[in-house]
Amino acid sequence: QKTIDKIAAGEVIERPSSVVKELVENAIDAGSTAITVEIKEGGISFIRITDNGCGIKKEEVPLAFLRHSTSKIQSVEDLMTVSSLGFRGEALSSIAAVAQVELISKPAKELLGVRYIIEGSQEKSMEEIGAPDGTTFLIRNLFYNTPARQKFLKSPTTEGNYISELLQRLALSHPNISFKFINNGQIKLHTSGNTNLKDIIYHIYGREISKELLEIQEELGDIKIEGFIGKPVISRGNRNFENYFINGRYVKSNIISKGIEQAYKNFMMQHKYPFTVLHFSIKGELLDINVHPTKMELRFSNKEEIYQFIHDTVYNRLQKREL
Ligand code: ADP
Ligand code: MG
Repeated sequence: QKTIDKIAAGEVIERPSSVVKELVENAIDAGSTAITVEIKEGGISFIRITDNGCGIKKEEVPLAFLRHSTSKIQSVEDLMTVSSLGFRGEALSSIAAVAQVELISKPAKELLGVRYIIEGSQEKSMEEIGAPDGTTFLIRNLFYNTPARQKFLKSPTTEGNYISELLQRLALSHPNISFKFINNGQIKLHTSGNTNLKDIIYHIYGREISKELLEIQEELGDIKIEGFIGKPVISRGNRNFENYFINGRYVKSNIISKGIEQAYKNFMMQHKYPFTVLHFSIKGELLDINVHPTKMELRFSNKEEIYQFIHDTVYNRLQKREL
């Protein structure tokens, strides 16, 4: 195995939660309506992801593990507008470079599925087997062949918590998909997939927060905001409870956070950080995206306008909070 492959893999795969993020995004892209994630020891020794999506055809399995191999749209400009979350074709090759991977997959119209094993980029076996429709990935012993990277991992509890938070955000961004998360044999999250956003907020954050929510639905030109914000009584010590998604992706944006926070501050001077779950739909031309393997930087072509719209939408809703 070439050193260059391991270095490249390290850029995409930093920790167990990066594996889960990439594989769950693939499952979403595959049209799955139910996705189960099971981990042991914070995902360091064991991650299993099962979906009921389109599956991978036998002849395409080895290809999917090649670098820069993707069946999806490739242009970076299209990234925020296309519906698929994947685009680089790097995830599977990167994961296979630094872990022991077992894949079982079957498209619905095939009679038999395939079982494929690849470890440290080395193909071990491929055979036809009976399997349910969809795809299962088993990832064992992450960084087993790169001990230096293993040292940077935190405790299994902390790594498990990263995965838990990731799955909460994925559930909030896709209310129409059923997510199940099992950590060391215990079910930590289970959404039904046929419910509304408010039920998912209730499921994740509990009654205290979900009884103090204000619904938002506003549109201005090519920007749409939908979701919930917490009443001012819910004031938090940090930004961790500010969830927002642009075109289905969880993102961080200073413009958006500032717009939301300033609205609360203008409404109530001593307010700290709010609770939000907001879905933004923004046309691609308004976004400028800088893509790096591990992070995505967002710029807006008209940031004053976007800031003002977010601020005013939140502020007005706080003013009319009894409605
Ligand atoms: P990308 O998502 O950028 O296309 P990946 O390396 O993540 O690249 O995946 C490579 C390819 O493998 C995908 O384009 C897709 O065709 C296939 N694939 C991966 N995971 C799944 C899955 N769960 N169901 C169906 N196809 C999958
Ligand atoms: Mg992908």
